[in-house]
Amino acid sequence: MRPLLLLDFDGPLNPHTKPPPPGYLRHEIAEGTKSWVVHLNPHHGVELRALAATFDLVWASSWEHGANRLLSPLLGLPQLPTILWPDRTPIPGRSWKTPYVAEWVGDRSFVWVDDGVGDADVAYFPGAHQVVWPVDGRTGLTPDDFRAIRNSFADNGDPAHS
Ligand SMILES: [Mg+2]
Repeated sequence: MRPLLLLDFDGPLNPHTKPPPPGYLRHEIAEGTKSWVVHLNPHHGVELRALAATFDLVWASSWEHGANRLLSPLLGLPQLPTILWPDRTPIPGRSWKTPYVAEWVGDRSFVWVDDGVGDADVAYFPGAHQVVWPVDGRTGLTPDDFRAIRNSFADNGDPAHS
């Protein structure tokens, strides 16, 4: 089984900093009567498409199915499996996404990139093949983050932590 790459959108791919860091392009999205402004880095699409050779990409974003409708095309990504969040009630000290991620992934290997996770979420998945990778939502995914994702698993799917 290939490892999963679970993708949060706001923060890792659409930084919270206004104005965004250099390299991000402004996109206006509209659907029905709603509209949004997001800032995307074209290199992220390139990196993610390359990672799809190793990982099965999955949306783990509060945009839920909207990520496929509105965001995947902007990043040059295909329609991806999507984790849904029936209840977003805050959980003290932990991301409200974590129980849903745990249920969705089961025993599969993964790297989960998210700017809303911390030590408790990392510790929630003690297996070395299940990696929670906190991202700085002010910068979005950096070259160092992508290097870490690429190095998370060797070709045989085993963790390659050194
Ligand atoms: Mg986020």
